[in-house]
Amino acid sequence: MSPPYGTRLANKVAVITGAGSGIGLESSVLFASEGAQVVCADINEKGAAATAEKIASLFGEGRAVAIKADVSNEEDVKKMIQLAVTQFGKLNILFNNAGIMHPADDNALTTTEDIWDLTMKINVKGVWWGCKYAIEQMRKCGGGSIINTASFVALRGAATPQLAYTASKGAVLAMTRELAVVHAKENIRFNSLCPGPLRTPLLMEFLNTEEKKNRRLVHVPMGRFGEAIEQAKAALFLASDDSSYMTGTDFTVDGGLCSAYVTPE
Ligand code: NAD
Repeated sequence: MSPPYGTRLANKVAVITGAGSGIGLESSVLFASEGAQVVCADINEKGAAATAEKIASLFGEGRAVAIKADVSNEEDVKKMIQLAVTQFGKLNILFNNAGIMHPADDNALTTTEDIWDLTMKINVKGVWWGCKYAIEQMRKCGGGSIINTASFVALRGAATPQLAYTASKGAVLAMTRELAVVHAKENIRFNSLCPGPLRTPLLMEFLNTEEKKNRRLVHVPMGRFGEAIEQAKAALFLASDDSSYMTGTDFTVDGGLCSAYVTPE
């Protein structure tokens, strides 16, 4: 990333989960480039630390801090939100981005209860914990912006099933919508980000053959997987005051996938 940097998040403090990889990594760097101070949280301690170091090397010390946090653990999430306050004085933005797509997640008959529970614990309960503790802090600032990562699979049925994942992302959309309505008058905005299929480790490890990749790509009008930075740019818009009249949306960034019937040859 090269200068000039922007000011769209000047004087804002952000917490980003899943900051060690993919969308979370790109968003942490992008948010910092726009002036934010960032708490980089990930269950992968080294990943979170590497992201914070990258921000420090690009924009100077004191712009980011890393924390090991499992979003499905209430105590970890409490500490993660508290770190924003002790380190940077407040919390303006929370990007609840961490999520898993388990390789053993399949259809209704083959998915096991432990995979279902693990997926729900991280993808749904993790988002709730984040929102719960962020709301308390955002009230003190007179508002804030919370972005919850869902997925296009919450909007369209897939014949390549991952039942627990799909159900978990549908729950994220419903939860986000309700939170948006409940807290609208407090100026705390909640929006869901619905990425299309991306060229990040999460999906590429899952689609480990050309055949599996092409089975998906044929349904994407743009004919390519998305990049993590393209989601980060959408998250930046939702985090910033540029989206000040938006709350409760399912914001799709999907190469046209959800709008397509027949795709170009
Ligand atoms: P990624 O695997 O590159 O990064 C996810 C990060 O989350 C990793 O660093 C991982 O360590 C972290 N993480 C996993 N479990 C965690 C936990 N319990 N607590 C804290 N951190 C945890 O994935 P990505 O593609 O950047 O995905 C980010 C989000 O986007 C996820 O919610 C995912 O479901 C969603 N999404 C991804 C795609 C895609 O195609 N990649 C599409 C739609 C939605």
